[in-house]
Amino acid sequence: MNVFQQSRRQLTLYYSLIMAAFLVVLIFFVHQSMEWSMESEQARELVETAGRIAGGQEYLMQHPELMEDAEDWRIGESDRLFFYVFDISGEPVNFSRASSQLEPFVMDIISAWDKEPGEVAVVSDQGKRRNVRVMMTAQPMMEDGEQIAVVYVGKDVTAMYNGLQKATYSLAALAVLALAVAAGVGHFLAGKAIVPLVEAYEKQRQFAADASHELRTPLSVVMASADLLENDPSISSPFLKQVIADVRDEVKKMTKLVSDLLFVARSDNQALKVKLSKVDLAAAADQTIRLMQPLADKKRISLLREGEAALTAKLDEQKMKQLLLILVDNAVKYTLEGGKVTVRVMAPAAGKIRLEVEDTGIGISKEDKERIFDRFFRVDKARSREMGGNGLGLAIAQEIVNLHSGRINVESELGKGTKFIVTLKG
Ligand code: ADP
Repeated sequence: MNVFQQSRRQLTLYYSLIMAAFLVVLIFFVHQSMEWSMESEQARELVETAGRIAGGQEYLMQHPELMEDAEDWRIGESDRLFFYVFDISGEPVNFSRASSQLEPFVMDIISAWDKEPGEVAVVSDQGKRRNVRVMMTAQPMMEDGEQIAVVYVGKDVTAMYNGLQKATYSLAALAVLALAVAAGVGHFLAGKAIVPLVEAYEKQRQFAADASHELRTPLSVVMASADLLENDPSISSPFLKQVIADVRDEVKKMTKLVSDLLFVARSDNQALKVKLSKVDLAAAADQTIRLMQPLADKKRISLLREGEAALTAKLDEQKMKQLLLILVDNAVKYTLEGGKVTVRVMAPAAGKIRLEVEDTGIGISKEDKERIFDRFFRVDKARSREMGGNGLGLAIAQEIVNLHSGRINVESELGKGTKFIVTLKG
């Protein structure tokens, strides 16, 4: 079932990441378009105002007597607009001043002004004086083709940009909220989507469990019958004797496959329970070696035991023996004649018992190492089947280790050998 939960989580994660990327792009474009529309409106207004002021100033210059009333030409302070008219010698001839805080900054901008007539620039001053933004434009005043003065018009747009920033922040907050809702909905829907899969999988699992369970009885009947026939003195034909031996062999393999299948099917259902008791792991290793000795002798493989002579821990005895048998059986199976297999039971270090099964066998390639714990995975199917393997051994080994909340790792080099390392709570 874990696989389903994992893919559900993965689906939610991918979905949320896509949504997040989409929202970031959306916020970026919304921000850009809001900025663009506000800026272009303000800029248009500024250019218009500059034209209006230039016109007014021209009239004023032609009628100097009106200069006394110059205030009339000034624009009110309230709307954040300001202007300065400088003649060609750089003397101010008219102005509506920016606020005292802003003026030094505005003067800096004017002295460094290098834009084309009618061009609008937004200049920001971050740091020294708080975050200030000013939008400015300049318009030259001409008389008989000669420039006589320049009108600088500007506007304090700090509030506008601050407002824009706040709007973007609240949009981002909304997006985070939307993302959380989307992730929740995504998780819920992914859960719904996998329901039929879980059901189908559960049916398959139940079928495998039932089938393997039901097969056990007929198989033991066939086995018992084959045993009877093998010991029947009336059967003397060597051919028949061979046939009976072959039947026994095949039934043995099948019995193993069926019990492995049952183990795997039960493990999916979390129907497997560990029966913890004080177990001498070293003694279990010795027993496994005794069991495997005849097979090892056949291939002239030396079976060695290293490490502790006795080591008790709270484990499931049956399952530990099964684990040892799987690992040592594999080590013997995948080691060539004359090789060496070592079983090490090591005393707890940092609260962990370490069990190692090392061989000098054919080794496992890097790519295959990732897959050997998968069910029915065999590097060389023909070779494994020939040796009585069904590809379930390491899947079961991993399951047993997981049931004990331990870890199983493999270190291997092609042609040199393999080492399986099991760490268990001490
Ligand atoms: P099998 O029944 O085929 O041995 P396992 O699940 O026990 O199935 O092992 C899966 C595959 O991992 C094997 O087919 C074999 O290719 C590889 N393998 C397992 N143990 C060893 C080992 N000690 N040395 C080399 N290859 C191994």
